[in-house]
Parts: sequence; C-alpha cells; structure tokens
Amino acid sequence: MATVIAANDPATTAAPYLLEGRPDWSRVDFDLECPRCAYNLRMLPSDRCPECGLDLHWADMIHAHFTIHRFLFEHQCLRRPIASYFETLWKSLRPASFWAQVQLHDRVHVGPLSAMLFLSAVWFALFAHVVPWLISEIISWMRRGVAAHSWVDEIQEAFEGISIRNVSSDPSILIFDWGYCCMVLGSLALVLVLRQTLGRCRVRSAQVLRVVAYSTAPGVIAVLGSFVAVILVVECLQRFNLWMDAPIFVPILLMLLAAIPYGLVLARALRLYLHLPRSLALGVTASFVGVLSSFAIPTALYLLYEAMGL
Ligand SMILES: [Zn+2]
Repeated sequence: MATVIAANDPATTAAPYLLEGRPDWSRVDFDLECPRCAYNLRMLPSDRCPECGLDLHWADMIHAHFTIHRFLFEHQCLRRPIASYFETLWKSLRPASFWAQVQLHDRVHVGPLSAMLFLSAVWFALFAHVVPWLISEIISWMRRGVAAHSWVDEIQEAFEGISIRNVSSDPSILIFDWGYCCMVLGSLALVLVLRQTLGRCRVRSAQVLRVVAYSTAPGVIAVLGSFVAVILVVECLQRFNLWMDAPIFVPILLMLLAAIPYGLVLARALRLYLHLPRSLALGVTASFVGVLSSFAIPTALYLLYEAMGL
C-alpha cells in the first residue's frame, strides 16, 4: 500500500527515482505498470509502452504511485465519502475539464467505481419517477379551483403515469429503468469485449470500468433526454396514424436515436481519457448494443418462458 506524501509536484516526488528523466531501476523498489494495458515496465529502456504504444510520463506515474487524487470518489471515499461523491459527479458533468484532471496513471479502485455505477441507477430512478411525481403534484396544486384545461390535464396525466406513486399499480413503467441499466451494462460489456481488438490498445478492464462509471452523470441526462425524444416522436406518429404502418427501419432509427446521446458521452471519454482510435464509432456502437440488449433480453426470456410451457 503506497503512502501519501506531502509533495504536490510530480517532479519533486519522482526526483529520487529518476535519472535523466527515466527511472533509475536500482532505486525503484516497487512495480510500475503501463496505466493503460498493465504491461510491467520494469527495466524498460524507452518512454513508450511496447505493448500498447502509450507515451509514458515517468514523473507523473511515480507521483501517482505515492499519492491519492485530490477529489476523485474512488480515492477519497474513505476520508470524505459524501463530499467527494458529489464533487466527482458535479465535475464529471463537464467531460472535457474532468478528463483533463483525471489521468491514466491515477490508480484505479474497482469497488468505488462499481458503487458509482449502482448509484447512477438510483439517480436515474429519481429523475424518471420522483421528479415526475413532484411535477404532477405541483400542477395539481396550481390547478385547484381553476377550470379544466385539456392539454394541462394531458401533461399532468403523463407525469403522474410515470411517477413513483404509480409504480405499484403499473410496474411496466420500470421499463425506463431497465433500459438505462441495459444501456450502461451492455455498453460496458461491448467495450470490454472489443478492447482487445482496438489496434494495439489492450486496455485494462478496470480502466474501461472507470470510463463508464464517470460517464454516468452526463449519461443519466443523455439517456433521459433521448427517451423523451423517442416518446415524442412515437406520440407524433401515433397522432397522425403513421405508427402502426411504419416500415421496419423506423423502430431501428428510433433505437439509434435513443443510443446516440449516450454514445457521444462514452465516445468523448474514450477519446479524451483512453486515447483510443475510432472512439466515436466505438461509443455509439456500444450504446446501440445497450439499447438492443434492453429489448433482446426480455424477448429472449419471454421465448424461453413460452418454450418451457409455463
Ligand atoms: Zn501499455
């Protein structure tokens, strides 16, 4: 277990272990691995990982070995869990700035990252069911004693329909939560599967988990937005009696529409943090696979249920 030392400057921390900018291996008595692919770098004579081609910044890597990140939840969860959690969430809403402050060589802790993934599903449920309940109650309170308005009634019914109060009478509204979980876990699984085939970039599983976990805050907003957009499009098609006769490519286009916002969030992190090639295609594909899995898994379970004659 590395100890935390006072020096804030990587050059100062690493100075005792460096000789002309490279590790003096006779003094480095701990393992140094490539932060992206985990290749053991001991005795390496160059500044580039021979496994994945990452340019190595020795002073930063040695500094990260001895220190903890100043705000990341995965580093601060034992010292100040609530403050670091909300600070991490808030900063992750601005991906460009966030990924400039989180570096590949910052040590990865799988436990807190998994907790962030789980908590993101709680946040999604909050925004998908508790906020609509509050809006429905506010509309109801404002309309007391006022003559009925058909479009106001429709809006209130729509919010009440997906509110937390309606979950027990209509559990099907949890389809949104299911869709979110499938998008996140499905996209995580796809990037994990493809990480071995991305050119020379054999990315560590824990680094992929970090990308997905810290993309959940903008991800919740992106997925909620895309779901609302898809619902509005389907509503318009139904109003003009076009939905039932819509060609097969229309549902596929809608699934792609639902996948694009979250895919863009993922793609940005894959490019800014992991420096992966073809990150845009990978992010959108991963998100699309997540959307597909949210439909495919229930369908497969239903077919299994039918086949077993239950
Ligand atoms: Zn490497």
